[in-house]
Amino acid sequence: MIKVTVWNEYRHEKKSETVRQLYPDGIHGAIAGALKADDDFIVRTATLDEPDQGLPDKVLNDTDVLIWWGHMAHGEVDDALVERIAVRVRGGMGIIVLHSGHFSKIFKKLTGTSGSLKWRDGDSCRVWVVNPSHPIAQGIGESIELPEEEMYGEPFGIPEPDELVFVSWFGGGEVFRSGCCFKVERGRMFYFQPGHETNTAFHNEKVKTVLRNACKWAAPAGEIIDSSGCEWRKVPTGEVK
Ligand code: ZN
Repeated sequence: MIKVTVWNEYRHEKKSETVRQLYPDGIHGAIAGALKADDDFIVRTATLDEPDQGLPDKVLNDTDVLIWWGHMAHGEVDDALVERIAVRVRGGMGIIVLHSGHFSKIFKKLTGTSGSLKWRDGDSCRVWVVNPSHPIAQGIGESIELPEEEMYGEPFGIPEPDELVFVSWFGGGEVFRSGCCFKVERGRMFYFQPGHETNTAFHNEKVKTVLRNACKWAAPAGEIIDSSGCEWRKVPTGEVK
Protein backbone atom coordinates (compact mmCIF):
# COMPACT_ATOMS: atom_id res chain seq x y z
CA MET A 1 0.00 0.00 0.00
CA ILE A 2 1.24 3.49 -0.87
CA LYS A 3 0.38 6.28 1.55
CA VAL A 4 -0.38 9.41 -0.47
CA THR A 5 -1.03 12.85 1.02
CA VAL A 6 -2.69 15.33 -1.34
CA TRP A 7 -1.77 18.88 -0.28
CA ASN A 8 -3.69 21.84 -1.69
CA GLU A 9 -3.46 25.49 -0.65
CA TYR A 10 -7.30 25.53 -1.02
CA ARG A 11 -7.79 29.27 -1.48
CA HIS A 12 -9.21 29.68 -5.01
CA GLU A 13 -12.07 27.32 -4.14
CA LYS A 14 -12.99 29.52 -1.15
CA LYS A 15 -12.75 32.82 -3.04
CA SER A 16 -14.25 31.99 -6.43
CA GLU A 17 -17.70 30.58 -7.16
CA THR A 18 -16.45 29.43 -10.59
CA VAL A 19 -13.70 27.34 -9.05
CA ARG A 20 -15.99 26.06 -6.29
CA GLN A 21 -18.47 24.82 -8.89
CA LEU A 22 -15.73 23.01 -10.80
CA TYR A 23 -14.22 21.51 -7.65
CA PRO A 24 -16.92 21.41 -4.95
CA ASP A 25 -14.72 19.21 -2.73
CA GLY A 26 -11.62 21.28 -3.51
CA ILE A 27 -8.89 20.41 -5.99
CA HIS A 28 -7.47 18.11 -3.31
CA GLY A 29 -10.82 16.34 -3.09
CA ALA A 30 -10.89 15.72 -6.86
CA ILE A 31 -7.33 14.38 -6.86
CA ALA A 32 -7.97 12.22 -3.80
CA GLY A 33 -11.07 10.81 -5.51
CA ALA A 34 -8.98 9.83 -8.54
CA LEU A 35 -6.50 7.98 -6.31
CA LYS A 36 -9.13 6.27 -4.18
CA ALA A 37 -10.31 4.45 -7.31
CA ASP A 38 -7.15 2.33 -6.91
CA ASP A 39 -6.89 -0.02 -3.94
CA ASP A 40 -3.09 0.37 -3.90
CA PHE A 41 -3.40 3.78 -2.25
CA ILE A 42 -4.15 5.00 1.26
CA VAL A 43 -5.15 8.61 0.60
CA ARG A 44 -5.15 11.60 2.91
CA THR A 45 -5.68 15.29 2.15
CA ALA A 46 -4.07 18.34 3.74
CA THR A 47 -4.59 22.06 3.20
CA LEU A 48 -2.68 25.26 3.96
CA ASP A 49 -5.11 26.68 6.54
CA GLU A 50 -5.11 23.57 8.71
CA PRO A 51 -2.88 23.44 11.83
CA ASP A 52 0.80 23.09 10.92
CA GLN A 53 -0.27 24.02 7.37
CA GLY A 54 -1.71 20.54 7.04
CA LEU A 55 1.59 18.73 7.40
CA PRO A 56 2.57 18.11 11.02
CA ASP A 57 5.41 15.62 11.51
CA LYS A 58 3.00 12.79 12.22
CA VAL A 59 1.44 13.23 8.75
CA LEU A 60 4.57 14.02 6.76
CA ASN A 61 6.51 11.18 8.39
CA ASP A 62 3.70 8.80 7.47
CA THR A 63 3.62 9.85 3.79
CA ASP A 64 5.18 7.86 0.94
CA VAL A 65 4.16 10.28 -1.83
CA LEU A 66 3.19 13.94 -1.41
CA ILE A 67 1.11 15.68 -4.10
CA TRP A 68 1.43 19.48 -4.16
CA TRP A 69 -1.01 22.02 -5.67
CA GLY A 70 -0.40 25.69 -4.84
CA HIS A 71 -0.70 29.04 -6.61
CA MET A 72 -1.69 32.26 -4.87
CA ALA A 73 -0.18 31.52 -1.45
CA HIS A 74 3.27 30.11 -2.21
CA GLY A 75 4.78 32.81 0.00
CA GLU A 76 2.70 31.76 3.03
CA VAL A 77 4.17 28.27 3.20
CA ASP A 78 6.57 28.19 6.15
CA ASP A 79 10.23 27.89 5.22
CA ALA A 80 10.65 25.38 8.04
CA LEU A 81 7.94 23.18 6.51
CA VAL A 82 9.58 23.45 3.09
CA GLU A 83 12.85 22.31 4.65
CA ARG A 84 11.14 19.35 6.38
CA ILE A 85 9.59 18.28 3.07
CA ALA A 86 12.93 18.60 1.28
CA VAL A 87 14.65 16.46 3.92
CA ARG A 88 11.94 13.81 3.55
CA VAL A 89 12.19 13.82 -0.29
CA ARG A 90 15.98 13.53 -0.18
CA GLY A 91 15.45 10.61 2.20
CA GLY A 92 13.23 8.78 -0.27
CA MET A 93 9.66 10.20 -0.21
CA GLY A 94 8.12 10.81 -3.63
CA ILE A 95 6.69 14.22 -4.55
CA ILE A 96 4.41 15.21 -7.42
CA VAL A 97 4.23 18.92 -8.13
CA LEU A 98 1.24 20.02 -10.17
CA HIS A 99 0.61 22.96 -12.49
CA SER A 100 1.33 26.32 -10.77
CA GLY A 101 3.43 24.47 -8.22
CA HIS A 102 6.30 25.27 -10.62
CA PHE A 103 6.69 28.47 -8.54
CA SER A 104 6.28 26.81 -5.13
CA LYS A 105 9.06 27.07 -2.60
CA ILE A 106 9.46 23.29 -2.48
CA PHE A 107 9.79 22.93 -6.28
CA LYS A 108 12.34 25.73 -6.51
CA LYS A 109 14.26 24.30 -3.55
CA LEU A 110 14.38 20.77 -4.93
CA THR A 111 15.28 21.85 -8.48
CA GLY A 112 17.56 24.71 -7.47
CA THR A 113 16.13 26.78 -10.33
CA SER A 114 13.60 29.56 -10.89
CA GLY A 115 10.73 27.49 -12.30
CA SER A 116 9.95 30.42 -14.61
CA LEU A 117 7.89 30.01 -17.76
CA LYS A 118 5.60 31.83 -20.21
CA TRP A 119 1.86 31.74 -19.62
CA ARG A 120 -1.45 32.88 -21.06
CA ASP A 121 -5.07 32.37 -20.06
CA GLY A 122 -7.16 29.60 -21.57
CA ASP A 123 -6.06 27.85 -24.73
CA SER A 124 -6.53 24.40 -26.20
CA CYS A 125 -3.88 21.95 -25.01
CA ARG A 126 -2.66 18.58 -26.21
CA VAL A 127 -0.33 16.71 -23.88
CA TRP A 128 1.78 14.43 -26.07
CA VAL A 129 3.40 11.25 -24.76
CA VAL A 130 7.06 11.42 -25.79
CA ASN A 131 8.21 8.43 -23.71
CA PRO A 132 5.60 5.70 -24.35
CA SER A 133 7.43 2.96 -22.42
CA HIS A 134 7.66 5.07 -19.26
CA PRO A 135 5.55 3.81 -16.32
CA ILE A 136 3.79 7.19 -15.99
CA ALA A 137 2.62 7.07 -19.63
CA GLN A 138 0.87 3.68 -19.40
CA GLY A 139 -2.78 3.70 -20.41
CA ILE A 140 -2.63 7.17 -21.93
CA GLY A 141 -2.30 6.39 -25.64
CA GLU A 142 -0.71 9.02 -27.88
CA SER A 143 -1.92 12.13 -26.11
CA ILE A 144 -4.30 13.80 -23.70
CA GLU A 145 -6.61 16.38 -25.26
CA LEU A 146 -7.72 19.19 -22.95
CA PRO A 147 -10.29 21.58 -24.51
CA GLU A 148 -9.04 24.44 -22.34
CA GLU A 149 -6.02 24.82 -20.09
CA GLU A 150 -3.77 27.67 -19.08
CA MET A 151 -0.91 27.92 -21.60
CA TYR A 152 2.52 27.25 -20.14
CA GLY A 153 5.38 27.82 -22.59
CA GLU A 154 9.13 27.38 -22.90
CA PRO A 155 11.69 28.27 -21.82
CA PHE A 156 10.88 26.47 -18.55
CA GLY A 157 13.41 27.33 -15.84
CA ILE A 158 14.26 23.83 -14.65
CA PRO A 159 17.31 21.58 -14.71
CA GLU A 160 17.42 19.09 -17.57
CA PRO A 161 14.87 16.45 -16.46
CA ASP A 162 16.24 12.97 -15.84
CA GLU A 163 13.32 11.66 -17.90
CA LEU A 164 10.82 13.56 -20.04
CA VAL A 165 7.43 11.85 -20.33
CA PHE A 166 5.14 14.51 -21.82
CA VAL A 167 5.44 17.59 -24.04
CA SER A 168 2.38 19.85 -24.35
CA TRP A 169 1.34 21.79 -27.43
CA PHE A 170 -1.05 24.72 -27.24
CA GLY A 171 -3.42 26.36 -29.73
CA GLY A 172 -1.16 29.41 -29.88
CA GLY A 173 1.69 27.22 -31.14
CA GLU A 174 3.76 27.09 -27.94
CA VAL A 175 5.29 23.88 -26.59
CA PHE A 176 6.17 22.98 -23.01
CA ARG A 177 8.00 20.15 -21.21
CA SER A 178 4.90 19.15 -19.28
CA GLY A 179 5.83 15.85 -17.64
CA CYS A 180 9.29 15.88 -16.09
CA CYS A 181 10.95 13.30 -13.81
CA PHE A 182 13.76 14.21 -11.46
CA LYS A 183 15.82 12.08 -9.08
CA VAL A 184 16.36 13.93 -5.79
CA GLU A 185 18.95 11.91 -3.86
CA ARG A 186 16.92 8.87 -2.67
CA GLY A 187 13.58 10.41 -3.69
CA ARG A 188 11.74 10.91 -6.94
CA MET A 189 9.92 14.05 -8.13
CA PHE A 190 7.46 14.38 -11.02
CA TYR A 191 6.23 17.72 -12.36
CA PHE A 192 2.98 17.72 -14.39
CA GLN A 193 1.61 20.84 -16.11
CA PRO A 194 -2.22 20.48 -16.40
CA GLY A 195 -4.44 21.61 -13.53
CA HIS A 196 -5.43 25.29 -13.75
CA GLU A 197 -8.14 26.06 -11.18
CA THR A 198 -10.72 27.38 -13.66
CA ASN A 199 -10.32 24.44 -16.06
CA THR A 200 -11.37 20.82 -15.72
CA ALA A 201 -8.11 18.84 -15.97
CA PHE A 202 -8.61 16.93 -12.72
CA HIS A 203 -11.90 15.55 -14.04
CA ASN A 204 -10.16 14.17 -17.16
CA GLU A 205 -9.84 10.38 -17.00
CA LYS A 206 -6.39 10.33 -18.61
CA VAL A 207 -5.10 12.99 -16.21
CA LYS A 208 -6.38 10.85 -13.34
CA THR A 209 -4.49 7.89 -14.81
CA VAL A 210 -1.31 9.97 -14.97
CA LEU A 211 -1.72 10.90 -11.29
CA ARG A 212 -2.15 7.25 -10.25
CA ASN A 213 0.80 6.15 -12.41
CA ALA A 214 2.96 8.97 -11.05
CA CYS A 215 2.24 8.03 -7.43
CA LYS A 216 3.30 4.44 -8.14
CA TRP A 217 6.44 5.59 -9.97
CA ALA A 218 7.39 8.02 -7.18
CA ALA A 219 6.69 5.62 -4.31
CA PRO A 220 9.84 4.80 -2.35
CA ALA A 221 11.49 1.52 -3.35
CA GLY A 222 13.02 1.07 0.08
CA GLU A 223 13.12 2.66 3.48
CA ILE A 224 12.70 6.44 3.75
CA ILE A 225 15.59 7.70 5.87
CA ASP A 226 15.95 10.90 7.89
CA SER A 227 18.35 12.79 5.63
CA SER A 228 18.69 15.78 7.99
CA GLY A 229 21.94 14.37 9.39
CA CYS A 230 24.20 13.65 6.43
CA GLU A 231 26.72 10.85 6.20
CA TRP A 232 29.66 13.17 5.67
CA ARG A 233 32.51 11.57 7.53
CA LYS A 234 36.20 10.90 7.21
CA VAL A 235 36.92 7.27 6.39
CA PRO A 236 40.27 5.85 7.56
CA THR A 237 42.32 4.17 4.82
CA GLY A 238 41.52 0.51 4.59
CA GLU A 239 38.07 0.68 6.18
CA VAL A 240 36.29 -0.17 2.93
CA LYS A 241 36.20 -3.91 2.45
ZN1 ZN B 1 -3.01 28.17 -13.38
